[in-house]
Amino acid sequence: AKRIDRGGALSYKPHMEREVRSRREIENDLRLALAEEALRLEFQPIIDARTGEVVSSEVLVRWYHPVRGEIPPSQFVPIAEEAGLMLSLGSWVLKRACETAARYPDLKSVAVNLSPMQFMSANLPELVRNALMETGFDAGRLVLEVTESVLIRDADAARDMLTSLRDLGVRIALDDFGTGYSSLSYLRQYRFDKIKIDKCFVDEIGITSDGLAIIAAVIALAHNLGLEVTAEGVEKKFQAEALRTLGCDSLQGFYFGRPQPEPVMTVDPKLIEAI
Ligand code: C2E
Ligand code: CA
Ligand code: CA
Ligand code: CA
Repeated sequence: AKRIDRGGALSYKPHMEREVRSRREIENDLRLALAEEALRLEFQPIIDARTGEVVSSEVLVRWYHPVRGEIPPSQFVPIAEEAGLMLSLGSWVLKRACETAARYPDLKSVAVNLSPMQFMSANLPELVRNALMETGFDAGRLVLEVTESVLIRDADAARDMLTSLRDLGVRIALDDFGTGYSSLSYLRQYRFDKIKIDKCFVDEIGITSDGLAIIAAVIALAHNLGLEVTAEGVEKKFQAEALRTLGCDSLQGFYFGRPQPEPVMTVDPKLIEAI
């Protein structure tokens, strides 16, 4: 909707102006929300596929805007990245996540998402180390989730970053596995501890015969490389059953539990018995 007018300056159509304005408003409000600690964390359980135990919790940031209501992270995380707010947002999340998880000594681990910008920021290892030190949380219980996009930008920097982070004793998961371009080769080139099979593959279970075959192949490959496998977006009993039969290590999704204000230590045993 952008065009160049005769004077050479950019002019915008009215709807575009509105978009720009609301984006800027969101940006300013997000800045305030950060300052006022108006953001919240939620925790979604990750279940051991064999025992049904809660083995981990994924941390998901929430923003309840006083006027606009709930704004999803898929919307404000990119705005935060562009506005240069992501590093402070990310460090707030990390510290609060460690602080909360430290209050749950029985929770084996907690998983925190890192945006591409966070992952590429040189002081990330120090930030992680500080969060662990200040909260007394054990590095071995922290999992950091990154997406493939961080590997594409600068392969060498990404490799160095993975090494520095793993040297701290934290584990790294490759998130949204299968949604990028060359996922399979990345598994050999970079050292991850686990992969998270994206929901879009789980959605294919029972719909196409290929769906199951792809998941089976991914699990086999990952296990051969010594990686743990979590499946995301498990909503149905039959999906959980299939994934468990295929040897998937852990399961996450609305079938077991939605994100909650505090980590949960168990899920309804009936749900586990059923699979
Ligand atoms: P993600 O890391 O892939 O997180 C999983 C998303 O799937 C979450 O959405 C979660 O609520 C949702 N989900 C979990 N189980 C199911 C299910 O069974 N069915 C369906 N339909 N959805 C399910 P959410 O919380 O809206 O987060 C969206 C994305 O925003 C995340 O995707 C992640 O990329 C980003 N994000 C969330 N929190 C943070 C954060 O603290 N830092 C950063 N950098 N990114 C975050
Ligand atoms: Ca994630
Ligand atoms: Ca994911
Ligand atoms: Ca995702």
